[in-house]
Amino acid sequence: MKNDFDNEHLWHPYAALHKGPSRFLATSAHGTTIETADGLKLIDAVSSWWCMAHGHNAEEIVEAIRKQSEKMCHVMFGGFTHEPAIELGEHLVKFLPKGLDKVFFADSGSIAVECAAKMAVQYQHALSRPERCKLVALKGGYHGDTAGAMALSDPDGMHVLFRGIMPQHYFAERPNCRFDSAWDDSDFDSMERIVDEHEKEIAAVICEPIFQGGNGMWLYNAGYLKRLRKLCDEKGILLILDEIASGFFRTGKRFAMEHTADGNGDYIKPDILCIGKALTGGAITMAACVASDKVAETITNSKISAFMHGPTYMANPLACAAGIASLSLFEKRDYASSVSRIESRLRAGLEPLRSLENAADVRVLGAIGVLELKAKPSAEDIQKVIRETGVWLRPFCNYVYTMPPFITTDKEIDRICEAIRRIGECEPAPVIEGDDEFHE
Ligand code: PMP
Repeated sequence: MKNDFDNEHLWHPYAALHKGPSRFLATSAHGTTIETADGLKLIDAVSSWWCMAHGHNAEEIVEAIRKQSEKMCHVMFGGFTHEPAIELGEHLVKFLPKGLDKVFFADSGSIAVECAAKMAVQYQHALSRPERCKLVALKGGYHGDTAGAMALSDPDGMHVLFRGIMPQHYFAERPNCRFDSAWDDSDFDSMERIVDEHEKEIAAVICEPIFQGGNGMWLYNAGYLKRLRKLCDEKGILLILDEIASGFFRTGKRFAMEHTADGNGDYIKPDILCIGKALTGGAITMAACVASDKVAETITNSKISAFMHGPTYMANPLACAAGIASLSLFEKRDYASSVSRIESRLRAGLEPLRSLENAADVRVLGAIGVLELKAKPSAEDIQKVIRETGVWLRPFCNYVYTMPPFITTDKEIDRICEAIRRIGECEPAPVIEGDDEFHE
């Protein structure tokens, strides 16, 4: 059996070998649905970890990859450039907030975060402030699994074991003021205190704007980001926004930073932006770290002048082709309306779940819906619900969440909410240390 080989030899993300209920063997995926070898058709309610914004195997993306593969699958980006990279760059510069237009292609979200941190440090170095080599991040944040990205993620979260190999940074308290509450200025005290105390060591602050995903599925107030932008400007500290999960309409806006818009539509922007996931519509891994003119020119005009990073598969042409097709879909389709529709439907389906005995909280924004439980059910019970409802969900810790593709229909959203309700109604399982598959 193929699954036996898998169990014996293949590591899966945040999972033990040989343990737990056997995995679904995916055989094909189209639109909102993944098919399995045993004949299940599962609605992908997590967009395969939030990247499949247009649904699986969008024709335009598949065709773009196919065409590019006939010409050139890869060429090194050191010394060469190529049309797919240039064309994707052009699309991005149009699509991204004005002023963010110096694009560094990375091979995954974690690497984009690593690049952003390095860029911030190199920027400070270029200004003759080499002592500014630490970052401030937020508790409850998640920025990836490589050492540099882990070091910026929640210090008490899933990466604790690796503390010994992580660079040490500063952490402000998780913003507590909720997305839809009135802004409470005291929520910023912790960040202000840290920056005051350590100003001269700090190169940048990094955060996921509005939506903290992989470490808590938390939605916080836009007031925090406005205060943060002002503080960074006053102190000569760069602001890095990690929109790898929140970008490309996931929170209802093109980028989550747009939730900070004032009456004139002006919103705060970062000095460096990380994007990924939906960039290629989920077809191939690719991310980017995008710098403002100020950051890019400061580095370029310094003695070292080159930004010191360069992965083998940088700007891979197949990934660029997928990115171009994906961005064309983002430009062409009215996802702001689709996501607003999904948001209303999720609210209608999930708000009533507050009354479940095991419910701790319900949060909805854009195409994100979260039921936080007091205690989680067993993996076996969750898998039973998945099989019976035909909805693929991947709860972690106490969070049962959905982040569906933007083409998900109202009927499918109702089925997703029903599956979440059923998981919320399962018996909490006894906690067994170490038996968890708990990431994202
Ligand atoms: N930053 C954020 C906000 C993320 O959600 C993720 C992935 N979930 C990452 C970084 C890391 O991306 P990747 O898994 O592509 O390395």
